[in-house]
Amino acid sequence: MRVDVLTIFPEMFEGVFGTSILGKAQNKGIVTLKATNFRDYADNKHSMVDDTPYGGGGGMVLKPEPIFNAVESILSTSDMDASESHSSEIKDEAAHVHQPARIILMCPQGETFTQKKAEELAQEDHLIFICGHYEGYDERIREHLVTDELSIGDYVLTGGEIPAMTVIDSVVRLLPGVLGNATSAMTDSFSTGLLEYPHYTRPAEFRGHKVPDMLLSGHHANVAAWRRKEALRRTWKRRPDMLDQIELTSKDMRWLDEIRREEDRGTDH
Ligand code: SAM
Repeated sequence: MRVDVLTIFPEMFEGVFGTSILGKAQNKGIVTLKATNFRDYADNKHSMVDDTPYGGGGGMVLKPEPIFNAVESILSTSDMDASESHSSEIKDEAAHVHQPARIILMCPQGETFTQKKAEELAQEDHLIFICGHYEGYDERIREHLVTDELSIGDYVLTGGEIPAMTVIDSVVRLLPGVLGNATSAMTDSFSTGLLEYPHYTRPAEFRGHKVPDMLLSGHHANVAAWRRKEALRRTWKRRPDMLDQIELTSKDMRWLDEIRREEDRGTDH
């Protein structure tokens, strides 16, 4: 996968792109991450990327030209990559098949980002993120350039850089080969439609607080059943809305009945 970020603060990405899972994913050659300063694509003398709003009022608005120019320049290089991969496709049927890039505007007015969206974006070959700053974007960027508008939640940050990092991290960790333990992303909260079950590690008893016996039993099927029931309990307690969105098995339903009774009685589980 190739990921490009358009920003006026590319230095913000240096640490994040080089560290932890993102750094490892790049070293393994699974993803290429690049931050580009779209100021370099301003076609005016002072490299201005913003201007005052038509109609007056406070705040500055990001101009369309630098962002259109930067996206078009990136797309032209990815077209070159694609034609290279196309020629190798003739030799190798399993070669990478080029898909058009998703051009994603980070914006508090966009679709709220979810794990489902991360899973969708992880299927793409090329993502381009546009990070705003100031009051807003010229509306023509929204209307005539982007394929998606994403918000990371109902609050306003100063710029789109931290939201873009959030989305990129959650997408890249889903790419095959990125996580050491491939099952960990599959059992993560939201991937299964539930919040994840509680975790414990050594010691088996800490300050009088014990690890549930089931986890020490070494019986894999019973441990898996315990985890499913505790994931249901956690979701029922913290995010009951999520239970309406997934298909529950008859066993899940029985466990939920048990959970309700246990919680009413205040039973230790
Ligand atoms: N005036 C804008 C509004 O009311 O919708 C907010 C602009 S905000 C100060 C500047 C930039 O930060 C936005 O263009 C966007 O790129 C980014 N941003 C802020 N909050 C965000 C959020 N919740 N999700 C995604 N991006 C956000």
